Amino acid sequence: MPVGTVASVKGVSQDIIDVQLLLGNTYHLYLRPGIEQVRKLGGLHRFMSWPRAILTDSGGFQVFSLRELRKLSEEGVTFRSHLDGSAHFFSPESAIEAQIGLGADIIMAFDECTEYPAEKARARQSMELSLRWAERSKRRFEVRKHEVPWGPISSFPNPERETPPGMSPPGNDNGMGAEARQSLFGIVQGGMDFQLRRESAERTVEIGFPGYAIGGLSVGEPRALTREVIEATLEHLPTDKPRYVMGVGTPEEIVEYAALGVDMMDCVLPTRAARHGLLFTSEGKISIKQARYASDQNPLDPNCACQVCHRYSRAYLRHLYASNEVLAQVLNSVHNLSFYLDTMRAVRHSIALGKGARFLSGEQS
Ligand SMILES: [Zn+2]
Repeated sequence: MPVGTVASVKGVSQDIIDVQLLLGNTYHLYLRPGIEQVRKLGGLHRFMSWPRAILTDSGGFQVFSLRELRKLSEEGVTFRSHLDGSAHFFSPESAIEAQIGLGADIIMAFDECTEYPAEKARARQSMELSLRWAERSKRRFEVRKHEVPWGPISSFPNPERETPPGMSPPGNDNGMGAEARQSLFGIVQGGMDFQLRRESAERTVEIGFPGYAIGGLSVGEPRALTREVIEATLEHLPTDKPRYVMGVGTPEEIVEYAALGVDMMDCVLPTRAARHGLLFTSEGKISIKQARYASDQNPLDPNCACQVCHRYSRAYLRHLYASNEVLAQVLNSVHNLSFYLDTMRAVRHSIALGKGARFLSGEQS
């Protein structure tokens, strides 16, 4: 899932990328333009003119990243805006209300992302808090879930116009014209401790959600540990519900995690790296800013079918980057997102053929 932090996948118009599900960040949208503003404008789908699915996080991870600017209590988190220093408060209830206001298809329980490293006692205390908050999140969601502030997508003023080229318009058998409904996912925490991860998974499943996320990763731990925690947690999550690992990873990692049984992943890496001139290709990573590409007339990635690789040379992309052109960020982002989406398409294809294990062992080329 590409990340559209403030209702925009940075640098990329949505109709360029063929993707089913985008992410939005509740913390950022709450601060600007504000939940009420988005609600008044018809919810996130209509506001950003995106008829496909959207997932919003609960804001917990962003608030956690503020560190100096936050204060935690049983009730919730007081934090200061990174924009203007103003004071705000998120609780499980207000995070759910905010996500109902935004109107994403999948919304997330409010959790505490345990810092790394953390002693076992501290990881347990944090996990227990997240479990109590998961119950509160679900309780509030159950009361409010029938209120659909934005209406079904087929009621868009102009569904044809809002349908990107090549996509079928909403309102037919693809389900997009169905009455809009939200799903609330639970989040497993427990630090890097396998026992706690198991307990958190089992107790989150007991509370009962239509999908489960593994949170608290990509917080500075070594990558080998990330993989071990994912593997140790997955075996305690039901295989008939979506299993979502938050905030990962490199192209190699997402292939590996998918092979472990992960269904959903999100990461800012493809777009963020692109803005820094770091490009993922079938031949490895390329730093397009390097002088060695100044006269290189080859496509960025000869095996990539994206419009950037189809049309432009490495020399041109290097020139755009060196000249600090906005187009450099756009083209780099389009390629990196295409590369990620192609990678996942290949994974899905290989699963459909029953070749998951062979794909993982590197025989995809
Ligand atoms: Zn490409």
